[in-house]
Amino acid sequence: MLFNEPVFGPIHSRRLGISLGINLLPAESKLCNFNCIYCECGWNTKDKKKKFNRRNDIKKHLELKLKLLKDEKQYPDSITFSGNGEPTMHPEFSAIIDDTITLRNQYAPAAKISVLSNATMLANPDVVTALLKIDNAILKLDSGIDETAVLINKPQFSYSIDKIIENMQKLKKHMILQTMFLRGIYDGKQIDNTTKSEINAWIDAIKKIEPRKIMIYSIDRKTPADNLQKVNFDELDKIAEHARKLGYEALVAK
Ligand code: SF4
Repeated sequence: MLFNEPVFGPIHSRRLGISLGINLLPAESKLCNFNCIYCECGWNTKDKKKKFNRRNDIKKHLELKLKLLKDEKQYPDSITFSGNGEPTMHPEFSAIIDDTITLRNQYAPAAKISVLSNATMLANPDVVTALLKIDNAILKLDSGIDETAVLINKPQFSYSIDKIIENMQKLKKHMILQTMFLRGIYDGKQIDNTTKSEINAWIDAIKKIEPRKIMIYSIDRKTPADNLQKVNFDELDKIAEHARKLGYEALVAK
């Protein structure tokens, strides 16, 4: 599922309510430094012509849409950066966040600004500063164990959970941690990030990151990899309970 426009929706989001989406990534195909086996945008492609949406185009489209929604008195709960890949890879991400804050304040002051990110660009201080300015920096960590994360997220670079956690600590108490739980077989290997050892490693990671909130979910749509299974709500809720016992607010997407 790819988004053709820089601004799309509003759509109803399981986690964010009425959400107006912003896609900074190319329309033709996904652009991400992960290649998650469950990605709703499908697999990465090798198309070298892929271009980010331009800052001015995004600003123009967002202003038009927010004006229209205001006229119709349909205010979004969230202006959400998601779309066809990893938004923080956009070279002008920080400036685009500033534009969005200005437009949000002008047309839909009650809307939260949310960014769904895989947390791989947090070594860039501009990305961290931008995420600290917004309401919901929702950052992905699908396992506290390197081998499992590599299997699930297929990072396109050398990946270390310790490094990701260290970078997430720059957003301590501000960020929301997001984890996808799933089971299945991929590349001949068994995947299950709900086992006891996985949950222990996940809880250890939470203790180090100290997020403001935790959101967990499972597969909801068709996945690019075959043979993946959804984890049901009751199981997800039991996993969330481990985090709640530590005093964290942990939400489960239905
Ligand atoms: S990080 Fe997000 S956009 Fe990138 S591959 Fe994973 S699910 Fe898809």
